[in-house]
Amino acid sequence: MLTWHILSGTYLKNCTSNYNPVIFSANSNGNGKANLALVSPQEKEKGKGNLNSNTKHKHSVRASPQNGSIAVTGRFTVKMSIAKPLKKLASCVILDLDGTLINTDALLSDVLGGFLSKYGKQWDGREVHNTLGKTPLEAAAAIVEAYDLPCTTNEFISAINPLYSEKWCNIKAQPGANRLIKHFGGHGVPMALASNSPRVNIEGKISFHQGWKESFSVIIGGDEVASGKPSPDIYLEAAKKLNVEPSSCLVIEDSIPGVTAGKAAGMEVVAVPSIPKQSHLYTSADEVINSLLDLKPEKWGLPPFQDWVEGTLPIETWYIGGPVIKGLGRGSKVLGIPTANLSTEGYSTVLSEHPSGVYFGWAGLSTKGVFKMVMSIGWNPYFNNPEKTIEPWLLHDFAEDFYGEDLRLVIVGYIRPEANFSSIESLIAKIHEDGRTAEEALDLPIYSTYRDDPYLKSCVKDSSNL
Ligand SMILES: [Mg+2]
Repeated sequence: MLTWHILSGTYLKNCTSNYNPVIFSANSNGNGKANLALVSPQEKEKGKGNLNSNTKHKHSVRASPQNGSIAVTGRFTVKMSIAKPLKKLASCVILDLDGTLINTDALLSDVLGGFLSKYGKQWDGREVHNTLGKTPLEAAAAIVEAYDLPCTTNEFISAINPLYSEKWCNIKAQPGANRLIKHFGGHGVPMALASNSPRVNIEGKISFHQGWKESFSVIIGGDEVASGKPSPDIYLEAAKKLNVEPSSCLVIEDSIPGVTAGKAAGMEVVAVPSIPKQSHLYTSADEVINSLLDLKPEKWGLPPFQDWVEGTLPIETWYIGGPVIKGLGRGSKVLGIPTANLSTEGYSTVLSEHPSGVYFGWAGLSTKGVFKMVMSIGWNPYFNNPEKTIEPWLLHDFAEDFYGEDLRLVIVGYIRPEANFSSIESLIAKIHEDGRTAEEALDLPIYSTYRDDPYLKSCVKDSSNL
């Protein structure tokens, strides 16, 4: 019996989160072929597939459902390992900076948008993929070429660098970054920061985040090693300066070059892709998570977070509001769950700052009062929405629709990452489970206090239910 670990797949549209990552089993018949059994967490759907070889490489596997209830027909990539507990014991953590701990994407669009307009060009984000995780020189060369700019790469860098550095103070920490740094720092887990950016830029960027610089035992920039990522140099140098073996380091990275560098250094790597819908490309990572909120340090032998409360994670409170709009018509009609959709217009920055997932909090309706609320942010993999949306579900039975009414949300906690489901019934069941989780959690003092938040009170005219 062999154990197989699914790392990614092209059938993600239909059933990613039920299977990824899932340990499942395969029986090798000794001639390079094997029967594959897919087992979902619910153990409802199973499929079979053939492996083309049984070497320790990645394989493409075609599987089809046995019971016809789901479409497990795509190709996916697996990594074979002998059945044994996964060796994932780390004693220290090495973190990437841009895209991993800080949200540099918004800054990139802001600075490049302004810069390119001087040349009559419009930044459309098409080169974001080609800049992630690259050295500054490589990233700059990619943009100069893509936009056919009348300057050399070095001239471009000289012109753009001051524009970047004057905005470093505006770069926000990724959700979960401060929590992660405090957690590992508090438990005495040595941490290093390893980025392709020049050392001086790293220190400049983190200087705006209180407590970060002193939390890192080691900081290494791309200008301090022979080659930047995807070369393993930066990570190997970090391990050396931490005085530990590379194999005892856990790397956390957002880019593919960064993941490649970490693996080439012989380290365990958790990928937190900063570009949506790209997780299937991170096949070499040991784990792909949706955001830092989903990191489980205990998987790697590190101290677990202990701030989850009854299945929920308290987060830094954030606010969003606007008139209720008609959504995609699925809430009531397809799911039987009436969501009070908000327009994303004007909220693209807020949306990009918050990872997709299921959150909860309090909702204020101007004429009706304040109610418990659970909401999803993201693309809803089951429906594969083209745009990231916010879909709040107010946990109350309303007699009529309230389109156009001013809705304000105070988001106080996180429940889980966005997921896909093999059937609409399982999606509906999960949404109801999320609702129950939120309903109960919001009675806890840590969350219930936000029912009186001024942001809600200033909007609600009828406060009879307050
Ligand atoms: Mg990065």
